[in-house]
Amino acid sequence: MFPKAKNLCRAVLCLIVLAMLLGITSCSSVETLSDRQDREQEILSREVKDELMVGRQMAAKLLGRFPMYTGSTEAVEYVKLVGHTLARQSGRPEVKFYFAILDTPDINAFATPGGYIFVTKGLLQTLRSESELAAVLGHEIGHVNEKHMYKMIAPKKQVSANESIARMLSRGNSDLGASISQIVNSGLKLLLEEGLGSEKEHAADEAATLYALASGYPPSGMLSVVKKISEKNKTETLAKTHPPFPERIASLELFMRQNGLNTQPPPLPTVVASRFNQAFKSVSN
Ligand SMILES: [Zn+2]
Repeated sequence: MFPKAKNLCRAVLCLIVLAMLLGITSCSSVETLSDRQDREQEILSREVKDELMVGRQMAAKLLGRFPMYTGSTEAVEYVKLVGHTLARQSGRPEVKFYFAILDTPDINAFATPGGYIFVTKGLLQTLRSESELAAVLGHEIGHVNEKHMYKMIAPKKQVSANESIARMLSRGNSDLGASISQIVNSGLKLLLEEGLGSEKEHAADEAATLYALASGYPPSGMLSVVKKISEKNKTETLAKTHPPFPERIASLELFMRQNGLNTQPPPLPTVVASRFNQAFKSVSN
């Protein structure tokens, strides 16, 4: 073979070997289905951890503003009992719900991301049945389940193969980094001043009605709570952060009619009525 032809052959051979090596390298970087599922699961659980972290910090700030009610262990345990009954319908087994009473005459209830739910003493004094309490707690569970608030305050992120440098630096623990206090403050502003918007409030009223029904309560609880608190005066924060009461009543009545649900409260079973009265007798003083 001529020397030139020999060099050419050698060059072609080198190119083939190089192409093969590149091929092998690129094959090894292709993500398998299992890798992808693992990565998506890791991102999902990191998102849940972030949601819990934000919710916990918001809850702590809320408790700095309104003290926790501890006057009656019976009442506190009763709220937890009814709350956990409703939370079984939540469809989010990764969320551990937490229920507490705030010691304020203001009529309101709050949910922070991740399942921290608070009902005020003023609201409990307004309620007249366990199904009304179930509806109030169900409304807040609905906000958590649908991540109504968290979707509004969390940074938008992409689930892609390209991990950002910030994410890598956070060693996989969180995607929020230094922005967490800003996110917590935005959440509190929504909770106490701006509200989540009519659409999400109507959705939470509807969710509460369905969770209550699925838990064995009459579906009329949410409607009767909204009607009842619309007649009270101590609802300054609630009125500021929720749609007008006549709008909520009309929307919920329409939803119930469309779904064939009875809007009239039936007589309550005696046992349920008596445990409600027993649990809240000291709170009503
Ligand atoms: Zn709400």
